[in-house]
Amino acid sequence: MNLKMECMCLQCGISHYIPLEDLSTEVTSGFEYPIVVNIFCNRCGGMLFVVGKEGDQPRYLVS
Ligand SMILES: [Zn+2]
Repeated sequence: MNLKMECMCLQCGISHYIPLEDLSTEVTSGFEYPIVVNIFCNRCGGMLFVVGKEGDQPRYLVS
């Protein structure tokens, strides 16, 4: 299974592509996206949240 999820850092905003099976997520009330609870940003150590599947058109991109 090669499905990867795009996870964005809450602090620095960079995206990480993490295999779905490595992710453990938690839904927080008041936040639209699932929060990743077992993996943190490798640049700043910030929390990540799941934006969507890799290859999906991200909603923050304007074409
Ligand atoms: Zn970060």
